[in-house]
Amino acid sequence: MVHANLIKRLHQYGFSNQSILSIDNLYQNAVSYVKWDNSFSEDYFKIEQGVQQGGTLSADLYKLYINPLLNFLCDSGLGGKIGNINCCAPTCADDVALLAYFSKREGYHLQPSKSVILPVKSKAKTIETNLGFWKLNDTVMPVVDKASHIGITRSQNNSAQTTVEENLKKTRRAIYSLMGTGLHGENGLDPETSIAMLRTYILPILTYGLEIVIPKGKILDNLQIQYKKLLKQILSLNINVADPAVYLISGLLPIEAEIHLKILSLFGNIARSNKNSSEWKLAERQLQIKSFDSNSWFIDMKKICIKYNLENPLSLLYNEMSKGKWKKMTTTAVHKYWTTRINEEIMYYSSLKYIPTSSFKVGKIHPLALANSANQRDINRIPIRIKIATGTYILQTNRAAYNQNNVDPTCKLCDQAEESLSHFLLCCRALDQIRTPILKNIICKCSELLALQHSNIQLDICN
Ligand SMILES: [Zn+2]
Repeated sequence: MVHANLIKRLHQYGFSNQSILSIDNLYQNAVSYVKWDNSFSEDYFKIEQGVQQGGTLSADLYKLYINPLLNFLCDSGLGGKIGNINCCAPTCADDVALLAYFSKREGYHLQPSKSVILPVKSKAKTIETNLGFWKLNDTVMPVVDKASHIGITRSQNNSAQTTVEENLKKTRRAIYSLMGTGLHGENGLDPETSIAMLRTYILPILTYGLEIVIPKGKILDNLQIQYKKLLKQILSLNINVADPAVYLISGLLPIEAEIHLKILSLFGNIARSNKNSSEWKLAERQLQIKSFDSNSWFIDMKKICIKYNLENPLSLLYNEMSKGKWKKMTTTAVHKYWTTRINEEIMYYSSLKYIPTSSFKVGKIHPLALANSANQRDINRIPIRIKIATGTYILQTNRAAYNQNNVDPTCKLCDQAEESLSHFLLCCRALDQIRTPILKNIICKCSELLALQHSNIQLDICN
């Protein structure tokens, strides 16, 4: 990208002289050093091409620069089309993917030096692409089976699978890098902080691009399993704990719900975009023409709308809705659906019989997993608490019942009765010392509540 051309283009787009001057100033005397092993190169060199690395304006300037080329490609009528809508060059900044039909369906990936050919399989046909057939400036272009465009891995036949695999790999790396801060479950940060970190740093990586290549069936199951495993580790839960317990304690939604939210938000963006844009035109066409068994993204999206009782997406396309309103509507619907479902599931598990009904709330970490203080001793108690509540704390009676060897179910602390949950929590003599003050506290609080209730003052039992 030549700077003089950028300035010319800014003028053509009708930028004010003042803005053009300041942008010109930004690039006029741009110089750069090389830093290597903490020492700088002696001489700077002038930069005459390209936008500033990492500059806030860079992406937008680049888009202004490249737009005429993309418009030219679009108007040329060459390349990939859906119906009569040309979409031959989906682009993000300098990442251009050229789509074209080559006798049958083909996808190209053109970048100045690292361009590759990615043949795309259409429904039933496969075509042989010979190495050496495609040339860019007389150099042979490699034919590959997967390539990445704007960070989403596309492959010959199953983009969802490759993207999920790639995301899992990146997620694992991100978690390792956060281990130093204490995100490792046992003996680490308290659950509330861990979950907050997971939500800000890990979840976006895990779900990246999945609103576009929607994972289904086996691929989604695999993702779901990995996600639950990760949550269990962070919450220091046993691996065999009932699945809804994971969501109950963390207040997180299943990964499927997170993906659905992203899909709905993407559709909201498309519906609000300019009616002349390719995305909007595609949405209109696909929603009107395609049947329910189609593979179109928009049909998948429509199915999700039906699942959550949202209005017909086609009507949203014509009646514009503000970003805030659409977001609120979709999140309420999705949250409502999953809250009911998870609360129902909790009732089916006998191990979760001590969990009160409808105690799952989206975004709310369960009070059991909250630390009273930043004290490490206090935090270390949380996993035991959660394990007792979710029925995965192993007592001597469980050992006796499930072990093939002869195990004595008698309590090893007091040697007086079978160690059952009630014995452990209420009767065991050896634990009396710890229990008495806590029990006193509970009795005090309860009598206070009872008294309040009898004097007819409205009260919130949770407090
Ligand atoms: Zn005992």
